Amino acid sequence: MGGSPLRVLVVGAGIAGLAVARALRLAGFRPDVTERQPPDERADTGVYLPGNAVRAMRRLGLDGPLRPLGQVVHRQRFLDAAGSPLCEVNLDALWAGVGECRALPRAELHRVLLTGAGGAVRHGAEVNAVEPLPGRVAVGFTDGTSGEYDLVIGADGPRSSVRTLAALGGPPRPAGQVVYRAVVRGGPRVADWTALLGRRAGFLVAPLGVGRLHCYADEAGTDLPTDPLARLRELFGSYGGPVPAVLAALETVHAERTEEVELGRWFRGRVVLVGDAAHATAPTLAQGAAMALEDAVVLAESLKAAGSVDAALLAYESRRRPRTRWVRDRTRDRNRTRDVPPALRDPLLRGRGGRIFGEHYRLLTGPL
Ligand SMILES: Cc1cc2nc3c(=O)[nH]c(=O)nc-3n(C[C@H](O)[C@H](O)[C@H](O)COP(=O)(O)OP(=O)(O)OC[C@H]3O[C@@H](n4cnc5c(N)ncnc54)[C@H](O)[C@@H]3O)c2cc1C
Repeated sequence: MGGSPLRVLVVGAGIAGLAVARALRLAGFRPDVTERQPPDERADTGVYLPGNAVRAMRRLGLDGPLRPLGQVVHRQRFLDAAGSPLCEVNLDALWAGVGECRALPRAELHRVLLTGAGGAVRHGAEVNAVEPLPGRVAVGFTDGTSGEYDLVIGADGPRSSVRTLAALGGPPRPAGQVVYRAVVRGGPRVADWTALLGRRAGFLVAPLGVGRLHCYADEAGTDLPTDPLARLRELFGSYGGPVPAVLAALETVHAERTEEVELGRWFRGRVVLVGDAAHATAPTLAQGAAMALEDAVVLAESLKAAGSVDAALLAYESRRRPRTRWVRDRTRDRNRTRDVPPALRDPLLRGRGGRIFGEHYRLLTGPL
């Protein structure tokens, strides 16, 4: 069906929406993209892309513009709360033949994807009506405009309104953590992805290049603090390693609850979901961007290869389910280890942690 005059609307210009727009353009389609936020309203945070995310960027022809950004990460180091080593994962070996792992400012990844998508995003246009009709979809926007499409792709995140409006599912459910993130400037020098594992909480930093650090922390629970920076200092004030120097350098911290989306099906009629709208998980394995980018590649390939939209959507969902289910299940496994007291967990990690953590990515290092 590549090159067919299919009228496609992509709802949402996050990682999933922009990647899907790029993949569709490469496959010969000309999608419209609509985004409710104004341009450049992205928080100053970092993102860590494991090897399979970088492979998907290559499949989108965007590895060139990605290469100068952020920093390649070669090693994951796990420490206990005091800063003593527990175990390591050699990322070059784990992702050999797939792609390098890279940490970069999220806004820079967004810029690459926006350019790749052709730049033509209608900002400030929120979808508020989706009506699946035989062979097409009627769509309404909050500014009073409307349109009709042959295919609507809901890339509108974990709280997707497309999902609700197309009766594919309800709100996300809490995954049980509060997560904190920030970009640190003027902090300590940290060469590796470094995580300190405490009791029902963890703190990680990764280099973003030019002296910046991606800082990510989490704790079990669902109550958002009124002052995230004060809460981080309270939670991690007694930690060792690079933590005291990072806490001292922190300025703005973003806090949010983790959410999970698990659906019986990802499409109804001519409405289909991609990215967090279809399968959000807690970001414990840092696989959200990778899954969104892979969705984009596979959906475009399916639309190009299949004889009909219906067959393409079925092929897309069947191909993507095993990998997103793997991420969800391994994320839950990893989150459960938080409840094991460090006195029991840490000796096990000292012996076998590298193998256990590497194993969480086994399926993902295989073909798409
Ligand atoms: C704290 C945290 C840290 C994370 N760290 C990592 C990491 O290091 N590595 C990684 O791979 N993943 C990470 N993730 C996960 C990753 O950020 C997500 O999986 C990814 O951003 C999902 O992209 P998306 O495009 O599906 O959704 P979103 O990024 O949520 O984008 C959805 C877009 O749709 C727009 N939208 C919503 N509703 C409408 C509407 N009705 N009409 C029009 N537009 C609409 C929104 O404004 C938004 O721009 C992290 C997540 C969190 C919460």
